Amino acid sequence: MAKYTLVIHGGAGTIRKREMTEELEAAYLEGLDNALTAGYAVLDKGGTAVNAVRAAIVVLEDNILFNAGRGSVFTKKGVQEMDAAIMDGATLNAGSVAGVRNIRNPIELAAEIMRNSNHVFLSGKGANDFAIKQGIKLEPDEYFFSQFRYDQWKAIRDSDNYSLDHTHQRLEELMRDKKFGTVGAVACDANGNIAAATSTGGMTNKKYGRIGDSPLIGIGTYANNRTCAISCTGHGEPFIRAVAAYDVSCLMEYKVLSLHEAMNIVVNEKLLDMEGEGGMIGVDAEGNAAMIFNSAGMYRGMRNSEGESEVAIYK
Ligand code: ASP
Repeated sequence: MAKYTLVIHGGAGTIRKREMTEELEAAYLEGLDNALTAGYAVLDKGGTAVNAVRAAIVVLEDNILFNAGRGSVFTKKGVQEMDAAIMDGATLNAGSVAGVRNIRNPIELAAEIMRNSNHVFLSGKGANDFAIKQGIKLEPDEYFFSQFRYDQWKAIRDSDNYSLDHTHQRLEELMRDKKFGTVGAVACDANGNIAAATSTGGMTNKKYGRIGDSPLIGIGTYANNRTCAISCTGHGEPFIRAVAAYDVSCLMEYKVLSLHEAMNIVVNEKLLDMEGEGGMIGVDAEGNAAMIFNSAGMYRGMRNSEGESEVAIYK
């Protein structure tokens, strides 16, 4: 039986130890550990990589600390619009959603699109209608409300009312302090099949209708048994322009680089050159794992069948 591995992230960004309380740090680490436990249990029972990443993401989406599902950030209009994607590296099947509202677990909707829609990507109302038809669980607006996300949004929601220069300055300050809380998981199962999944509320105060990198196949999420499974987190726009996840796959396929080498080039050279702050997690079909980021921190964790297990936050 081949080595099996699960890797997760809970977002990257300006996460510094000095700005964190002990309680909050413990809560984040516990949240990551719970997600690893749920996803790893699937692999341990001989389950598929696709089901393992789903299980891990559901736990993170249900945890208000992470910017996905329940803890999603507020858009410019003061609502939550969520994006998610899942990809099966064995078949290259994929499912994505963008701009959905009131869906408890957007990753379940993405998986349903992959399995039962004949499409890859649904957005907005069409995606919500499909969710209702397929019996995907919905929640009222209150379920997604969290005071700290609301306060984060309130601090910048009026930023367009300032004069342009001031706006820039203010936004720059805020961007410097930005924290991304998207969640992601990649897995390699005992049969050497790999999968990737990502789920997010996007970025605080994002424009209505804005779609980030997370649900875009080949950008925030990608899996291919021949190369790697990748889930990204960070400032979505540069990741989109860098075609980040697929670039890692291409470096492995065409330049025969290792997972670690390929991810390092994309995160620490290409993205950095584009001011693309963030990071990514990856596995290959031999169960090798990598977690690489160019920001101050990335909530992350991994567990494998060789008994290695870790959760971490800072560099
Ligand atoms: N990449 C996400 C986005 O731009 C944000 C994040 O990773 O937290 O929507």
